[in-house]
Amino acid sequence: MGSVREYFSNIANGLGSTAKGMAITLRHFTSEPIITVQYPKESLPIPPTYRGMHILEQEKCIDCHLCAKACPVDCIEIESVKHGRVLEWKKFSIDYKKCIFCEFCIPPCPVDCIHMTTEFALATDNADGMVEDMLTWTGLRPEDQAKLEGKASPKKPAAPAPAGGGEGDARSRVAAMLAKRKKEEG
Ligand code: SF4
Ligand code: SF4
Repeated sequence: MGSVREYFSNIANGLGSTAKGMAITLRHFTSEPIITVQYPKESLPIPPTYRGMHILEQEKCIDCHLCAKACPVDCIEIESVKHGRVLEWKKFSIDYKKCIFCEFCIPPCPVDCIHMTTEFALATDNADGMVEDMLTWTGLRPEDQAKLEGKASPKKPAAPAPAGGGEGDARSRVAAMLAKRKKEEG
């Protein structure tokens, strides 16, 4: 008789616990605000210290390779021809297939011209497209050419990169870089 009572008491306990759990679930379901963010349509604010894609202030870069030497995964490639102090740019790329966003490349830069932005949207189905060209221009700018030829610089540089490197600047330059890549991917 005792075991029959225990059997029904266990069932009653189980039903009671289930009802309590369901009541909590229902309370949260109806009274709590929705916290799921519908990415990519919505996104949460990104902390300013987030280590995302890089941006290069090419006009300040002196082609010293210190950033590339500090990179633990060898994902920075730099190539330029030096004409005295004038640089003829061939390549400055970062391979984001390898980059581990460690930020080791930033502190060694003697002229503070490479930065990390909060841009993280790198997803692509084209692995080759993950090698990002950091250059704003290649070769020589007209004013560089003029310097080499000993002429006065043209008044308006043809391909200027915005100076300053603030986060706003950086974000718009990374956005332009991503738009260029999207266009190339067709
Ligand atoms: S963040 Fe790290 S892995 Fe990426 S380029 Fe800089 S040093 Fe290399
Ligand atoms: S460390 Fe700075 S100046 Fe030197 S190559 Fe890298 S980005 Fe340019």
